[in-house]
Amino acid sequence: MSLTPEISVVVPVYNEVDNLPELHRQLTAALTPLGRPYELLLVDDGSHDGSREVLQRLAAEDPAVVALLFRRNFGQTAAMQAGFDHARGALIIPLDADLQNDPADIPRLLAKLDEGYDIVCGWRANRQEGALRKVPSRLANRLLVRVTGVDIHDTGCTLKVFRRETLEPVRLYGQLHRFIPAIASAYGARITELPVTHHPRRFGESKYGIGRTTKVILDLMLVKFLLASLCRPIHAFGRWALLSWALSLGSGLVGLLAGSGQWLLAALIFLTLGAQLIGTGIVAELLTRVYHEGTGRRTYRLAAVLGRAEES
Ligand code: UDP
Ligand code: MG
Repeated sequence: MSLTPEISVVVPVYNEVDNLPELHRQLTAALTPLGRPYELLLVDDGSHDGSREVLQRLAAEDPAVVALLFRRNFGQTAAMQAGFDHARGALIIPLDADLQNDPADIPRLLAKLDEGYDIVCGWRANRQEGALRKVPSRLANRLLVRVTGVDIHDTGCTLKVFRRETLEPVRLYGQLHRFIPAIASAYGARITELPVTHHPRRFGESKYGIGRTTKVILDLMLVKFLLASLCRPIHAFGRWALLSWALSLGSGLVGLLAGSGQWLLAALIFLTLGAQLIGTGIVAELLTRVYHEGTGRRTYRLAAVLGRAEES
């Protein structure tokens, strides 16, 4: 008799062999007293240090464990997406395998969610890492708050609690897992945060260096653009096209009045640029139609349909 789990914990694992038995112990200790059925989705992201074998053993011993084994290393975000895809619970909780996140925080995060939120983000208020990691991460986070308008301190913390529906409009590529709250918020999710414990890494090593920050900033530009323009790209591009044509007109007039070839050349460049932008906007409009219609996605999210039994 296996109950459908209510809570699905998703853990990306890449070369964490020495952390896994302790992680399993701590997760079990944190979740069992809640009395809510749970599953542990441990996703091996192509480890070559024996993590796979440990996961195989855990899956054989503990019916709550589901081990997903990748064929090679696809990255943390892909591992998390695989966990989300296989999760059966109404609540989904990702966390790192390296015991930097503390499973003992999970009950508090769940209690916070029950106050009426869709997402509760962990905030590593007392982050146990060098300044070289913390400072760029803090700057990137501040930029992210400015651009997305989702005011949480620490988007990079893997430990979060999601209601399953909030993940449905989200597809993860590249390093996009940190943007889930921003994307979900654009679809109307209620989001809050809670300080969580953060430990230094005891075993294994960090898989990332400083290079991650530039990727995060590029991803941020992409996410901002996708969120702003997914519905009306012609508006996003069209505005710049109109500006460009206005500049073309202005420099054309100056060029004619002053008899200046340089200004006329500028006018020609702005004219072409405007046409390019309109063209790009139209292509993007076609693509959003393919995206929404081809995937059956909606441009809105319903909270409920009331008064018609068959749609409840
Ligand atoms: N991870 C992964 N695939 C990768 C890199 C990392 O699944 O290619 C996992 C890793 O095992 C850990 C989590 O992602 O559980 C976070 O990685 P790490 O601790 O190295 O990041 P940091 O805490 O240093 O930001
Ligand atoms: Mg870590």
